[in-house]
Amino acid sequence: VAKKQGRGRWALFDVSMREAAIDALVMQNALKQALANDEFSVVYQPIYSTLTDEICGAEVLVRWLHPVLGPVSPDRFITVAEDIGVIHELGSWVMHKGCAELQRWKAAFPELELHLNVNVSGVELNRTGYVSQIKDILAQTGIDAHDLQVEITESVFLHQPETIAQVLEGIRELGVRIALDDFGTGYSALGYIDRYPIDAIKIDQSFVSRMMAYHRSDAIVRSILSLGRALNIDITAEGVETLPQLLRLREMECPFVQGFLLSRPVNAEKIMILLQCQKTKLATTF
Ligand code: C2E
Ligand code: MG
Ligand code: MG
Ligand code: MG
Repeated sequence: VAKKQGRGRWALFDVSMREAAIDALVMQNALKQALANDEFSVVYQPIYSTLTDEICGAEVLVRWLHPVLGPVSPDRFITVAEDIGVIHELGSWVMHKGCAELQRWKAAFPELELHLNVNVSGVELNRTGYVSQIKDILAQTGIDAHDLQVEITESVFLHQPETIAQVLEGIRELGVRIALDDFGTGYSALGYIDRYPIDAIKIDQSFVSRMMAYHRSDAIVRSILSLGRALNIDITAEGVETLPQLLRLREMECPFVQGFLLSRPVNAEKIMILLQCQKTKLATTF
């Protein structure tokens, strides 16, 4: 059929299909080698309290630099890592690295209360022994469970909701907090915070980016904040890029903010510098 539509089309269809297939294969094979080849690194994006205007924690974000493919976005490779089963090793590496770094920040600034947020995929949660894996990482790095927050998205509830409920309870029993990431972009967010032990919500950046232009987005953000207050759930607004957004969020008493306006994701050393500057009241941006 494709051939009848003309030579050019046939070729276009064929090439793009082939490229997609090769892409997937190349990515899979490259990912299998990436940990052993030391191609992953992490960056940290600070989370600020609007009450103190100070850094109260950071979210660790994985980075992959392949020698030939170049930098690959986690939005592209995390699902592939899930498919080929690499996510467990990668996820535990990220959590361990983040906790070890948090320990260094805490040692350097014992007066600060800092926490670490780690993104965790549904595939990781579903693996037997996940709760004890977290427990081991906490013990190895000397991090207090209350200073760790795992960020999950609603997609984790789509498969095996019973297992997930048990795992989340187990994580909670350790004292680790659970945050619902990208809040508002899924299917039935309210149902999940009603039924599962959620301690924190991160308002998706799409609402934040629209809220200065659209009354509805502003009203949605306001409602999530009042829901948070009613349920005693911490709220972080993600993707704060402009000063008007920050001022509006502060006006609405949004307790925590994160975004390029405040700081881009940076390496561990730069977090140390930001904390030092904060302590000495020196202005810095990266
Ligand atoms: P996320 O957890 O919602 O992380 C926020 C993403 O938004 C990050 O992209 C961050 O760099 C970006 N961001 C932060 N502030 C702003 C802003 O002001 N404006 C805009 N436009 N973007 C902002 P990144 O690092 O590319 O990560 C994308 C997603 O990949 C993350 O979304 C998370 O779902 C996933 N991810 C990242 N690291 C990990 C990891 O270690 N494990 C797992 N399972 N997933 C991860
Ligand atoms: Mg996140
Ligand atoms: Mg998010
Ligand atoms: Mg996201």
